[in-house]
Amino acid sequence: MIIGNGRLITNCEDNLYFKNGAVRVVGELIEEVGDFEDLKARFPDDEVFDVGGRIIMPGMINAHTHIYSSYARGMGVSKPTRNFPEILENLWWALDRSLTLEDCELSAYTTYIESIQNGVTTLFDHHASPNAAKGSLFALAEAAKEIGIRGSFSMEVSDRDGEKITDAEIKENVDFIKAMNTDDQDMIKGMFGMHASFTISDKTMEKIVTSMEGIDAGYHVHVGEGREDQYDSLKKYDCRVVERLLGWNMLGPKSIAVHAVHVNGRELDILAETDTTVVHNPMSNMGNAVGATPVIGMLARGIRLGMGTDAYTHDMFESVKVSKILQSYRLSDPTVGFGQALQLQFDNNPAICAKHFKRPLGMLKPGAYADIITLDYAPFTPFGADNWRGHILFGCYGRMTNDVIINGKVVMKDRAILTVDVEKINARTEARAAEVWKNL
Ligand SMILES: [Zn+2]
Repeated sequence: MIIGNGRLITNCEDNLYFKNGAVRVVGELIEEVGDFEDLKARFPDDEVFDVGGRIIMPGMINAHTHIYSSYARGMGVSKPTRNFPEILENLWWALDRSLTLEDCELSAYTTYIESIQNGVTTLFDHHASPNAAKGSLFALAEAAKEIGIRGSFSMEVSDRDGEKITDAEIKENVDFIKAMNTDDQDMIKGMFGMHASFTISDKTMEKIVTSMEGIDAGYHVHVGEGREDQYDSLKKYDCRVVERLLGWNMLGPKSIAVHAVHVNGRELDILAETDTTVVHNPMSNMGNAVGATPVIGMLARGIRLGMGTDAYTHDMFESVKVSKILQSYRLSDPTVGFGQALQLQFDNNPAICAKHFKRPLGMLKPGAYADIITLDYAPFTPFGADNWRGHILFGCYGRMTNDVIINGKVVMKDRAILTVDVEKINARTEARAAEVWKNL
């Protein structure tokens, strides 16, 4: 298939740009990128997917989200809620405790649908459903396979619901990793999820590292999102959160430390030295009023800092914009944040994917997976290799996504999702969400 007749942004190492470009897809991979007319002439028998002058670019990557939060859309919180720990207790933990396996499946579908509609083709999910732990990651994976989205999945282990549930969460992570991190497919991968240091005792840490012996999958954990995480670690373990994770040998190139808002210079050095990924979630951090990740300092240390949403939104274009203004605001300097926000999404998120998936993602080049989107965006100022990132930052948003191809398969065409019945899923979800809300 030749996907062409639009401005082609490759985002590959040499930043190739074609004003009338095309991508030739064979099976799940990109075979060639180039000029539309040239590719059509050389491969006259190929099916042509004409994008009608739209932007052709790599699919967006969300490096941290929470499927379990799907039912919270429009939901109120009845208990008085004044700060971040109370937001966790009264909103997120109340919700995730009430989820059944069916709710996990529906929350997954609705998250995938909105992600695809916003041009996201790969997501890293951090799941929680303590009363339906067993089989929950497999339910998310089944829904992902059905709709055709790529993802990494992990379950948040914590002590907050008692030892039996902790053990079930540990087992779910390990079972899932063993089932998915194989060579026969590269759409669904597993990591070991942990909620956060302050909800995990040393006894549970011991169980986790024992269960992960001989498994090289990486940990996905919230780190220093609020100050409370650091206070808890200092009080109980006489060390800071990143030092504690280092002590348990949980850091490294495959691990993801999410947020890292409240970390000191020594912790940043440890994250850099261990080559641990950090993921910034600007809108969530602002919404929870927990502070701002020190993006500039992290990048200066060479930390692989990516971008997620924490499920605050499914639109990575929106996140790029907010990341820029948050850094400008944080440092009282309007000149910072532009390049960095774009670097997180377009350089570092692909680099994170490279630690978990076998072939390149987030760029269009021969040998990369064919994860491609088109944007209904008509620039009215010059547009090219040297400034397309500026157009993305100020001109584009997720709902401009018109078509989505993942792993060589057309998942959305002209804004219609082809692989699942969206109306049916939304109707089922609305009914289940109403039931769950009643019982909260
Ligand atoms: Zn999170």
